[in-house]
Amino acid sequence: MDGTPLGDGTRAVRAGLPEPRKYEPTLPGPVFAAHFHLPGEPTGPYTYGRDENPTWTHLERAIGQLEAPGGPAGQDERTVVFASGMAAISAVLFSQLKSGDAVVLPSDGYQALPLLRERLEAYGVEVRTAPTGGDAQLSVLDGARLLWIETPSNPGLDVCDIRRLVAEAHRGGTLVAVDNTLATPLGQRPLELGADFSVASDTKGMTGHGDILLGHVSCRDPEQAAAVRRWRKVVGAIPGPMEAWLAHRSLATLQLRVERQCANALLLAEALAGREDVTGLRYPGLPDDASHPVAARQMRRFGSVVSFVLPDRARADRFLDALRLVDDATSFGGVRSTAERRGRWGGDAVPEGFIRFSVGAEDPEDLVADVLRALEEAR
Ligand SMILES: *Cc1c(COP(=O)(O)O)cnc(C)c1O
Repeated sequence: MDGTPLGDGTRAVRAGLPEPRKYEPTLPGPVFAAHFHLPGEPTGPYTYGRDENPTWTHLERAIGQLEAPGGPAGQDERTVVFASGMAAISAVLFSQLKSGDAVVLPSDGYQALPLLRERLEAYGVEVRTAPTGGDAQLSVLDGARLLWIETPSNPGLDVCDIRRLVAEAHRGGTLVAVDNTLATPLGQRPLELGADFSVASDTKGMTGHGDILLGHVSCRDPEQAAAVRRWRKVVGAIPGPMEAWLAHRSLATLQLRVERQCANALLLAEALAGREDVTGLRYPGLPDDASHPVAARQMRRFGSVVSFVLPDRARADRFLDALRLVDDATSFGGVRSTAERRGRWGGDAVPEGFIRFSVGAEDPEDLVADVLRALEEAR
């Protein structure tokens, strides 16, 4: 290689692969082991299955290379995989915060954050909140140990300025973690934008087939990575080897999936724009979306989620019923389109007719036609 940076597709198909060895597979299969042969002193990379597993190591290298392609050597040791996105989020919060610390959380982030807030407060951590859009986090940063941001936010798709918030936070000694679930590292690289932690639920677009739960944390600082890794060992929030291997296998198609799904999402958003039965349309990739100017400065792809509001709950339910190519299901980022009336969960501050639409890898003309027909049938 002559030093020219490799493209995203090339990096995705090769991410985390070990050096080729004669008669070995390209990506070694999952290692199922509760313990490893270990005579003598209990040191070395693999001792007990809750601590480390070679299948995790390959996946952690792969994700580390995608999160920080230009990162320092050994960057791979700064990524830690977990059993789920919530396990990854909890690992950062609980390894970094102690009684008496203050943390800033989004007021409009993932719906389980209030559950974490309860826990943190029970442990004596002061929790402040701020909405994602408009950089209102700046006014509550003073003296905080950690700023947690989720951009684009789920499900509202607001965006905040990572570089600006990091600069202000670091000036006051505050660490910054970004929930990068919606964007994936091919859409946005928080560590390159200055953040200390890039965290994701890899249950979503990262693995993209809606068949596994997984999460990861990528860290700027090796000591923080060690603390996050230690937390995993303590609470045992470990991914199964099969899940880790399936995730690694899925990464090979990450660029293909994300590219297609983001292109489809933009086409769908354009088809919905200007319809009189659709309000509150949000997609950060739409040039006139409120999030677009900031998103365009820090994102390379704008994600596979489009959100919009239908006039009422009954209309939204009829729309979801009428869709033929789109399943009524939660989660997002998968190759098969799904949509749901988000208000049914009760956890997000959204109107009754709010639809979170996860755009898959179908042919765009089929998908758009199905959605427009369902909207007509729902009238
Ligand atoms: C789904 C999701 C999570 C939680 O991830 P799990 O894998 O379900 O534990 C966290 N943050 C965001 C933004 C999510 O969409």
